[in-house]
Amino acid sequence: MGAVKRDAQTTWFNDNARRIGFADADEFALAFALKPYRLKQIYRAANKELLENVEAVTTLPKELRAELTERGLTFSSVEPIVVQRSHDEKTTKGLFRLRDGNEVEAVLMEHKGDRTTVCISSQAGCAFACAFCSTGQAGFTRNLEATEIFDQARFFARDLATRGKKITNIVFMGMGEPFHNYDAVMSAVALLNDAHGFGLGHRHITISTVGLVDRIDQFALEGLQVNLAISLHAPNDEVRNTFMPVTRRYNTEQLLAACERYVATTRRKVFFEYVMLAGVNDTGECAHQLAELMRGKLYHVNLIPYNATPDGPFAGTADDAIWQFAAILDAAGVPTTVRHNMGRDIAAACGQLRADTQPKAHAATK
Ligand code: SAH
Repeated sequence: MGAVKRDAQTTWFNDNARRIGFADADEFALAFALKPYRLKQIYRAANKELLENVEAVTTLPKELRAELTERGLTFSSVEPIVVQRSHDEKTTKGLFRLRDGNEVEAVLMEHKGDRTTVCISSQAGCAFACAFCSTGQAGFTRNLEATEIFDQARFFARDLATRGKKITNIVFMGMGEPFHNYDAVMSAVALLNDAHGFGLGHRHITISTVGLVDRIDQFALEGLQVNLAISLHAPNDEVRNTFMPVTRRYNTEQLLAACERYVATTRRKVFFEYVMLAGVNDTGECAHQLAELMRGKLYHVNLIPYNATPDGPFAGTADDAIWQFAAILDAAGVPTTVRHNMGRDIAAACGQLRADTQPKAHAATK
């Protein structure tokens, strides 16, 4: 266990080589007699210059471009099927098809100024079945490869470039549990961060987890400046158990102990997410208990207004009650913010990603 060195370029070529029928990057390079500098050119064109495809890489000989295209080398492993923009045009949701036909969603949020956040998926579906989350209710299909995760960001980076903008932040808060697909997620982080490629600083990346204790410990040892967010949602097992089955594997005490170890090892702040469910976890008692757990630590609480999901049995806490809850945390000196929800009109807000758009609808909106 511990820090693993991940080479972004090798990861990218490995994933793409496998996609077009080679065992790995080396076999791929051999087949086309590609020298290292050629590999660098291709990698840079795809991930730094964000070119559309290999045909657009004019620094490569024409025959080589044709050969690579013929063989099926593309610059994206995910194909956008439906792209929807919210009424206020600040939120864009992409539904992507993977090569095997599975689908995932990712969301771009354009904030005031030039700040942008892209929320990406790490798995098709999710195995953790949180009762308030649409993805969780639909079950688990498969892990994404590092490149499939990265290419969601690549898509929105290209979209933003047409408006003269860039991605400034990436959050692993889309479909799936990032720490349940740990290695691919760490490789995707390396791809996002690579100075020879995409070049997004670690501090601009946030990984959100349902609370897998062993992975939190492993992540602490990576030595990355990547932010960690924990989906806590309740201050005790009794409440957490009722809607987060993962609590039976790692209880609240074990989870918070792992967070303390993480802070001790990394000296980095932990962000706690807390979705406000009326009559479930939003009582004054919960607020006081949460305040006790958070008080005096390098912790930050983010209260999330509940977003309706198709068969969710929950109702969201009213806004004024959310602010009352926040006031109790505030009084205890706990840094607290209330998340501003974006994209509800296109089911792009937290917990609403499901990728269940019908094939007919795809054809209609294309
Ligand atoms: N599996 C990871 C990342 C995906 S969820 C995790 O559990 O953290 C990203 C965030 O959205 C989590 O905090 C999650 O609890 C929250 N969320 C899920 N469903 C929601 C809903 N219906 N309304 C508001 N937030 C929700």
